[in-house]
Amino acid sequence: MKIPSGNNQTIRLSRGASLSDFGDKIDVNPASLVQVMMHLGEMVTATQSLPDETLVLLGEELKYRVEVVSPEDEDRELLESFSIEFGEDKGSDEDLRPRPPVVTVMGHVDHGKTRLLDTIRKSNVVSGEAGGITQHIGAYQVATEVDDVERKLTFIDTPGHEAFTAMRARGAKATDIAVLVVAADDGVKPQTAEAIDHAKAAEVPIVVAVNKIDVEGADPQKVRAQMTEYGLVAEEFGGDVQFVDISALKGENIDDLLESVVLTSDAALDLKANPGMEAQGIAIEAYLDRGRGSMATVLVQRGTLNVGDSIVCGDAHGRVRAMLDEHGQNVQSAEPSRPVQVLGLTNVPSAGDNFLVVKDDRVARQIAQQREARERFAQQARSARRVTLDTWQDHLKEGERSELLLLIKGDTSGSVEALEESLLKIDAGGDEVSIRVIGRGVGAITQNDINLATSADAIIVGFNVRPEGKNSELADRMGVDIRYYSVIYQAIDEVEAAVKGLLKPIYEEVQLGSAEIREVFKVPKIGNVAGSIVRSGLIRRNAKARLIREGVVISENLNVESLRRFKDDATEVREGFECGIGLSYNDLRVEDVIETYEMQEKPRD
Ligand code: GDP
Repeated sequence: MKIPSGNNQTIRLSRGASLSDFGDKIDVNPASLVQVMMHLGEMVTATQSLPDETLVLLGEELKYRVEVVSPEDEDRELLESFSIEFGEDKGSDEDLRPRPPVVTVMGHVDHGKTRLLDTIRKSNVVSGEAGGITQHIGAYQVATEVDDVERKLTFIDTPGHEAFTAMRARGAKATDIAVLVVAADDGVKPQTAEAIDHAKAAEVPIVVAVNKIDVEGADPQKVRAQMTEYGLVAEEFGGDVQFVDISALKGENIDDLLESVVLTSDAALDLKANPGMEAQGIAIEAYLDRGRGSMATVLVQRGTLNVGDSIVCGDAHGRVRAMLDEHGQNVQSAEPSRPVQVLGLTNVPSAGDNFLVVKDDRVARQIAQQREARERFAQQARSARRVTLDTWQDHLKEGERSELLLLIKGDTSGSVEALEESLLKIDAGGDEVSIRVIGRGVGAITQNDINLATSADAIIVGFNVRPEGKNSELADRMGVDIRYYSVIYQAIDEVEAAVKGLLKPIYEEVQLGSAEIREVFKVPKIGNVAGSIVRSGLIRRNAKARLIREGVVISENLNVESLRRFKDDATEVREGFECGIGLSYNDLRVEDVIETYEMQEKPRD
């Protein structure tokens, strides 16, 4: 098929768009775009999300000027349409005031991140708060004395770099400094290296906390030596990275660590913000409290947030009814770098959503609604095109797919292997169709699995496993089909049916009619028969039936085994007529209602 030239028209595509999205924009069948890409030397499927360059390249080929718009750009444009600028301090340099650094704790598993965060929150000596920090709200602020001056620090209370990178992937920067925890008895490990990469990519300075120095065999110097290989050279080795030997367990040298964070921040960063504007920042975590509604912890990044402000946070909006700090106490206002829990939002925002104060509730609601609508569209577009076992045949027919991709997760390596082997043996019926397993593993279905399935358009087969945490919601959102099985042959049957286009039809219930029992007859050998009058629709012999007594279903899945008008057998009896109905169910009473229905095949859409 010849694709008409775009005549240098400009089209806008969202970042990560697929050939299907491209096709929608220019009204061309995605299958022909697959052909064009093949011609250009790239094998891509119609639903695969493409890098910016590929979209631009395809545009050039078809004479379209492609503008790739990131979600952040889209949001910026939305806010601009309300004359709002997000992310900039208003005013001049004179309006800026120093603000505390925001710190994330990263490092390898079991090296003591959680313990360190706990210890810091308890050792908050300077503020003199009785009892220390009691509430987990997702972040907390502590104070320490540096050169006789009280300095504050904000800690993000979720250890690890996952949350950090997830936020960064969404264009949000919450962290100023990373504390990298390395256990002195274990040294540099894979996640240590990963954390270094993430911090560097985000251009966030690192302070190294060499932990567990109380453990026998701990070798803090070795950690310093190892770290030089990653470009982190300790001051005593002539570098500029602060290393502090600590014991998170015993609470040793915690103040030194805090001081090093402050000094590193002073040396490497010039952290300032304008407290005199309407507040802006980022949501760190949020949940729904049964009594109090949406509880969202936000980190104020610029401006001052006050009780009574109208705010919008992601697709949630509302007026700040109250704010709580990490001690569970009410606060009236929050300045830059201060985390507070906000009450009063209409719903629960996601971590990484930006928040901003707007002039009134109406503006807040409009922005929230537009964001919500945009997300809904994007989601529909994503899931409409995803491959599922039910829709796989359509993808096959449209020429988008000839391979069914599977990701297998199971409870034991034995079951995973057995399942994989059997699935690969399925005869998909000819050479044109095949099954390929793109990944396998033991354990719960993780975020990684879902990401992989999303990008490859694969189906996840879960054998005696379930998604961990919120991952089943994630899968729904991304439109990833997860199939759960606990018997191998069932998995094989369904996958086989899908590739052969034989998935069982879906049935739905169609109401036929109902009858009221007026009298119950005892018929020898047959049992009780209901002398009834048809109240609505019709009663048909062999139809399915249920018995209802005083509005409650007494028995389901019955059959109209016999149907009689006077002495004669009948196939159907209509509304208003009397009849005898045999259900092979004996507990029939006067005034019971017999409801009949049929199961009809519903076309798959
Ligand atoms: P995370 O996975 O990095 O968050 O590690 P945790 O904070 O959960 O710590 C892992 C284990 O190491 C726990 O049993 C802690 O009690 C222990 N741990 C943490 N810090 C220290 C320390 O300084 N000394 C000793 N001996 N054990 C520690």
